[in-house]
Amino acid sequence: MNDTTTTPAVLILLGPPGAGKGTQARMLEEEFGLIQLSTGDLLRAAVAAGTPSGLAAKTVMEAGGLVSDEIVLAILEDRMAAPDVKAGVILDGFPRTDGQAAALDGLLARNGQKVSAAISLEVDDEAMVGRVAGRFTCANCGEGYHDTHKRPAKADACDKCGGTEFKRRADDNAETVRERLKAYHAQTAPLIAHYRKMGVLETVDAMGSIAGIASALGAILRRVTA
Ligand code: ADP
Repeated sequence: MNDTTTTPAVLILLGPPGAGKGTQARMLEEEFGLIQLSTGDLLRAAVAAGTPSGLAAKTVMEAGGLVSDEIVLAILEDRMAAPDVKAGVILDGFPRTDGQAAALDGLLARNGQKVSAAISLEVDDEAMVGRVAGRFTCANCGEGYHDTHKRPAKADACDKCGGTEFKRRADDNAETVRERLKAYHAQTAPLIAHYRKMGVLETVDAMGSIAGIASALGAILRRVTA
């Protein structure tokens, strides 16, 4: 038996709301067998379940602000402890503050791991408002769509699973997106310098096609996990 163990990949996607982190994470998840870990999804699940953390997070999320590090880290650490993440993870929407980045570095170091790459998706802010305000997802499988850029091929049925119910996030309206963009620039964009200093920063022009961006990300992932 070959007992050589490879360190699981830890990929971070950085970028403002609407940059395509979720869309790309889902594609990479399928192609590379990694686990997408979205703190936004975990928080929305906590809100839906009505847990104490969910109740505290709900108002902040609806206003477009950032949920406290304490709540986010508790949820994230819980998820990172599950066995399936051993395959490697794509962090989508985490870390978003200095405190979260430092906590992640510490958590990984304790497991003998480190960030493989932090990829900044570079986009134009104004375009993000239109992208986010028009998006919706399949209520069954989560496939993402957009009113103008990516409608289901057959009207009213999901391309991927055939589901006929779609949903829109409460915070995907123009006013809240502007608040989320402000939070991104004030608290999350500074992390780009943190990862540059660690020597793991990659940047990708994310204004092109979904497939083109996916292939740029795939090339980075193959390179950093080789
Ligand atoms: P987007 O990237 O489009 O803003 P997300 O689903 O990642 O969408 O996040 C939705 C909301 O959830 C954020 O606006 C914020 O309120 C909260 N949130 C998600 N991740 C974090 C995090 N790491 N730290 C603080 N708040 C978070």
